[in-house]
Amino acid sequence: MPHISTGDIFRAHLSDATEFAKQIRPYMESGALVPDTLTIAIVEERLKRPDCRDGYVLDGFPRSVAQAQALERMTASHGHAIDAAIDLRVPDDELVARLGARRTCAGCGTIYNLKFNPPQGGGMRCDRNGCGGQLVQRPDDNEDTIRQRLIIYHKTTGPLYAFYRERGILHIVRGDVPPEAVFATVEDIVCGLEVA
Ligand SMILES: [Zn+2]
Repeated sequence: MPHISTGDIFRAHLSDATEFAKQIRPYMESGALVPDTLTIAIVEERLKRPDCRDGYVLDGFPRSVAQAQALERMTASHGHAIDAAIDLRVPDDELVARLGARRTCAGCGTIYNLKFNPPQGGGMRCDRNGCGGQLVQRPDDNEDTIRQRLIIYHKTTGPLYAFYRERGILHIVRGDVPPEAVFATVEDIVCGLEVA
């Protein structure tokens, strides 16, 4: 089942210099959310690919009620249903600390976290398969931009809790516990789904 992260799709468009890239770039670089109509068009294009036929996990989408409504339309037109919406809850200060410490290898794209998952040896070089690439901070991962993203996030994504609670598919999971514990909880939810 493919894991589809809107952030990853956006970055792939940027690095492949697609037609969508020109439209996405200004938002990504300023830390603003990409507008709904554009995001929806990009996600819809991704969901039409053959690997999505038997289901998918969406990460970072929907982020607004308009996106959630568009997703319902898309899934209905593909004969799919949304089986679960998982809300991973992490306090804002914890998110700022985590995202501020995130670094990406400029060579191979491996993601590190200087606090939780630093490269071995403690340097600022990638240690994966002797890659040695420089670790860089994404332009949208500095503290000011993160705080700005969080304000927008609470305003636009907050109403989604009610949206999915009304549909009876909302699951709230604590995200400020060790990754293995988050994984186990999410796995229990997914394995317990009655998929049509
Ligand atoms: Zn690397």
